Amino acid sequence: MSECGAYSSNFIRQIINKDLASGAHVTIHTRFPPEPNGYLHIGHAKSICLNFGIAKDYQGQCNLRFDDTNPAKEDIEFVESIKEDVNWLGFQWDGAVCYSSDYFDCLHGYAIELIEKGLAYVEELSPEEIRKFRGTLTEAGKYSPYRDRSVEENISLFEKMRNGDFAESKACLRAKIDMTSSFMVMRDPVLYRVRFAKHHKTGDKWCIYPMYDFTHCISDALEGITHSLCTLEFQDNRRLYDWILNNIMIERHPRQYEFSRLNLEYTVMSKRKLSILVSENLVNGWDDPRMPTIAGLRRRGYTPAAIREFCKRIGVTKQDNTIEMSALESCLRDDLNENAPRAMAVLDPVKVVIENYAKDKIEILTVPNHPNRPDMGTREIPFSREIWIEREDFREEANKKYKRLVLGKKVRLRNAYMVKAEHCEKDEDGNITTIFCSYDSETLGKDPIDDHKPKGVIHWVSADAGVEAEIRLYDYLFTEANPNIANNFASLINHKSLIVMRGYVEPSLKIADKERAFQFERIGYFCLDRKDSNEDTLVFNRTVGLRDTWAKMKANH
Ligand code: ATP
Ligand code: MG
Repeated sequence: MSECGAYSSNFIRQIINKDLASGAHVTIHTRFPPEPNGYLHIGHAKSICLNFGIAKDYQGQCNLRFDDTNPAKEDIEFVESIKEDVNWLGFQWDGAVCYSSDYFDCLHGYAIELIEKGLAYVEELSPEEIRKFRGTLTEAGKYSPYRDRSVEENISLFEKMRNGDFAESKACLRAKIDMTSSFMVMRDPVLYRVRFAKHHKTGDKWCIYPMYDFTHCISDALEGITHSLCTLEFQDNRRLYDWILNNIMIERHPRQYEFSRLNLEYTVMSKRKLSILVSENLVNGWDDPRMPTIAGLRRRGYTPAAIREFCKRIGVTKQDNTIEMSALESCLRDDLNENAPRAMAVLDPVKVVIENYAKDKIEILTVPNHPNRPDMGTREIPFSREIWIEREDFREEANKKYKRLVLGKKVRLRNAYMVKAEHCEKDEDGNITTIFCSYDSETLGKDPIDDHKPKGVIHWVSADAGVEAEIRLYDYLFTEANPNIANNFASLINHKSLIVMRGYVEPSLKIADKERAFQFERIGYFCLDRKDSNEDTLVFNRTVGLRDTWAKMKANH
């Protein structure tokens, strides 16, 4: 069974199973309908896995449809990024990409049909007045003085709207439903409004644009969607979805089902908010590796498999909840631990000189790419008299618990020899500048004969052959688990969410694939940055640490 397997059932799959069993449907057709007003985020991944996953498992179809009815906010850059992200996640839409704007003519026709049936009217109250007249949850709405216009008058006014004879906000088309309904969406919702904006597909053809509720159900019906899956905030809108389809001459009537949105701790999950972070330069673009966007996660080193696994583990329900970031990270670690090649890098380097090792000698050691996976092959790493080790891996004195390099003691260099620290040099401030060691030439790949096996193993990089690299360490983007509670969510941004280090990496990493994560032994998972890394400068992003240090910190409190 595929990853989003039919056996991993949820309430939507149960509905589908029933519909297939009863013969209500023979095939299943879903759609993923993003509005191209930003990059996709991990919440969208949940919807993508659900819609495309269902189509795949039931041998049905899934459309990619751009819900492009708001020309002011939409952009072709977003259309391209969305297509790329869906493909990168491992899904392919059926047929050509669909656009709601493809149906503008048809939607216009259905609007006229509603007017002719006396079910829609041209409103001339201001948006402010419309809001006031709508009433509240406890108070019924009031009727607009324009509500009872004749069909002929409405037809001619709607035509005027279409011809650009009304300024924006001076007129709109409303459905004539029920101003006393307990569902606010049913209190004569707006179907069309005037917008003098160039549309990325239809250019200047239209100056009236259909609203989401009017567009969505009709687009679903035109495309033959069987199950229209959306998030819970559209629950009430289902009444309107059905009302529109019940009142026009259209062959099919898809059904809408709602599931809960994905919320993740320490981040925000709305394109509007993410776009503020971008426009205010609080991050470096939509694909900043700290962003919860698909493009950001990808640049950070996330794999499509880890994201799909995460969506599978969180499931699809109607319960609103917020998922811990560690749930996402643990899917990634499970994948990378199994599949990421190993490499060595030193982030905070201090020099080690091996005094009894020949000057100018470089030895090439062949080492496995993965400790448990011979199928991943081997690579060559150079060893030399001078190497870098991590500053925190050396102490002049230490107790037995410290299993790294200590003066007078031995430690194994990962994949290489055992060394013993003899003495060290310091600068005027007392910082260690160089550690002098001796090595035992008989210990390459074996333990010493006459000695105890050393407990510690530390990583290293040849100082002669290693390559300098910029290494970017990331932390959560926000300081609060739920940044949405603040009036100004941007004030909760974590100013320490990016720390830049300069270290050294083994030379094999010069030709690493961009975005492919490696395990830097003993440190964490890192990948070459897609944008900022080039032949002259290597830039690595920390994808995720080796362990969930965050959970541990919480547990200790
Ligand atoms: P945003 O508030 O981020 O703009 P949206 O719902 O307006 O989200 P759309 O582009 O309209 O974004 O969404 C496309 C599809 O993705 C919709 O079906 C929507 O319900 C779904 N979706 C969006 N955000 C989430 C989320 N956090 N969890 C699950 N599904 C989501
Ligand atoms: Mg939206």
